[in-house]
Amino acid sequence: MHHPRWTDEEARLRNAICRIGKLGYDRSYIVGADGNISAKMQDGTILITPTGAMKGFLEPEQIAHVDMTGKAIDGGPKPSSEVGIHIVAYEERADVKAIFHAHPPHAVALTIAGVDLQTPIIPEIIVTIGGIPTAPFGTPGTPELPETIRHLVGCSDVMMMQNHGSVTLGTNLMDAYKKLDMLEHTAKILWLAHVAKGGLDPLPAEDVRKMLATRAQLGITTRNTLENDCGA
Ligand SMILES: [Zn+2]
Repeated sequence: MHHPRWTDEEARLRNAICRIGKLGYDRSYIVGADGNISAKMQDGTILITPTGAMKGFLEPEQIAHVDMTGKAIDGGPKPSSEVGIHIVAYEERADVKAIFHAHPPHAVALTIAGVDLQTPIIPEIIVTIGGIPTAPFGTPGTPELPETIRHLVGCSDVMMMQNHGSVTLGTNLMDAYKKLDMLEHTAKILWLAHVAKGGLDPLPAEDVRKMLATRAQLGITTRNTLENDCGA
């Protein structure tokens, strides 16, 4: 469906947010009215899931359209109460065009259990996402929460918020979803290994160094905290 007021870009992004919301809901990365998803338009405004909605059942006209202060600009739906998370990330990273904030259960559980997701263990994750930094706890629904991730956004496209959820940044919506998918799959593997072994050992530093060196050959230029040492 295509609202007459929407540009092609806006119609495409509204539909994509609904599709990604359904994917995240179907995979249980969000339940109930959890989480929020946004995309930045070429004019610098933001499309974001509305407050209180179940992201598995969204229609394109339910998406909120806000400016970089989080104010609705078209008299339409009110944005998510966590719009601040998205604004902080867009402020700090001009290259980021989409963001998914979710509550992936294994990843959140590991932050609650105090398992450090920075630990380099799985080769493909070391080379791509890198370490996964965790921001200190912040009270949801207050300006405190977005500020907890401000310094991490420059370090990594994937981060956890202590006892709460994930934030994944992408060059588009599928890219932000892909990183969430990889994050929760990684957390599930680490969870299983932790239970089976009673702890987790990092790969030897020399192996990690060699894997990081392959990034350039593979053309991977995403921010990686094992490489830039920030946020650790
Ligand atoms: Zn949340």
